[in-house]
Amino acid sequence: MHDKLFHAVEARTDDLVQLTADLIRFPTVNPPGEAYTPCAEYIAARLKKRGYGVELIRGEGTPGDTDRYPRTNVVARFDGRTPGPTVHFNSHIDVVEAGEGWTVDPFGGLVRDGRVYGRGACDMKGGLAASIIAADAFMEVNPDFPGAIEISGTVDEESGGFGGVAYLARKGYFSKPRVDHVIIPEPLNKDRICLGHRGVWWAEIETRGEIAHGSMPFLGDCAVRHMGAVIAAFERHLFPALDAKQTTMPVVPEGARRSTLNINGIHGGQTEDFRPGLPSPNVPDSCRLTIDRRFLLEENIADVKGEVTGILDRLKRERPKFDYAIRDIMEVQPLMTERDAPVVGAVAEGIRAVFDREPAYVISPGTYDQKHIARIGHVYDCIAYGPGILDLAHRPDEWVGIEDMVQSAKVMAVGLDVLLRGRIRA
Ligand SMILES: [Zn+2]
Repeated sequence: MHDKLFHAVEARTDDLVQLTADLIRFPTVNPPGEAYTPCAEYIAARLKKRGYGVELIRGEGTPGDTDRYPRTNVVARFDGRTPGPTVHFNSHIDVVEAGEGWTVDPFGGLVRDGRVYGRGACDMKGGLAASIIAADAFMEVNPDFPGAIEISGTVDEESGGFGGVAYLARKGYFSKPRVDHVIIPEPLNKDRICLGHRGVWWAEIETRGEIAHGSMPFLGDCAVRHMGAVIAAFERHLFPALDAKQTTMPVVPEGARRSTLNINGIHGGQTEDFRPGLPSPNVPDSCRLTIDRRFLLEENIADVKGEVTGILDRLKRERPKFDYAIRDIMEVQPLMTERDAPVVGAVAEGIRAVFDREPAYVISPGTYDQKHIARIGHVYDCIAYGPGILDLAHRPDEWVGIEDMVQSAKVMAVGLDVLLRGRIRA
């Protein structure tokens, strides 16, 4: 039933590979936010040629935005012949640094043995290319389609998305009536639908002491020892409690199907600037600990915070001279799109059509730009779906499979068909 659509995608395989390789050759490394503008301009030129209306939108004044490193986003829209819903494909164009261990040029766009190699191949330039090809194929087969298709390439997802999707969402780009359905082609594997992510709370805890000469520590009060007591209390009370909290969310990998806490960093006393000399003998009067707590749909953020402050308050009552301060760094609510949401059903139909099996429904352990689309844009019909193997993201010799991209583009094309033309297989 989708033969024409599938042929139209297959006929574009070379184009898909070329597009992916071209995108990889822009070293859009974040931080600092290198080559955003030429990459966004390349996408804009490509889509303009197909008849899209395109806009380049700079995330003015957002973190990291400077004239040297402008936060340049591209949003493209193609209106069909008649009114109808809008389907938006959103991909981030930024990539993390290449790092060590590569055997190929991370920004060379090498094509070999059915794969395209490079930083961002799987996360997520392959997904962006697949969505562009899916839309091309859909429009060729259905020149009179109703509604609209939007494609965006946005920046800074790897650093929180503030200059990218969050900025655009604030300007109304991710709200109704402009947008109805959003697909984010993150590399979640070609036969899985990602419905959302766990919640996040980052905070900094500071313990305080009193400075004194290191030869007479009894005259001061050591902030690092106080922090040691905090960590000991976490080990005794917090970690076992978190481990016991299971979720019904289908988080992958399975280890993330409960609450977790990472101690992100700890610092107390002098900085290490004294090297290669010697430190001066001081009792530290401050120690700071950064925590990264990931929480579940079944938890609420007030309780999540209360668990930690409860432990700190108890120490304050029981431990002489103990005092602390706590500062929120970031919070993100957990998200899970309903299984019966239209975009979920449409992409599931695509997966059935291409692979002849039911999709797997998953939740990401970490967050991505879906949070801004839901929280700021109030569009909840949103999923992540795209080619590429999640485990390859951010690693050396990152690659995306050409066949995976082709199959994924077919799934997206069927998704467009279902959402815009209301075609569900009987
Ligand atoms: Zn990504």
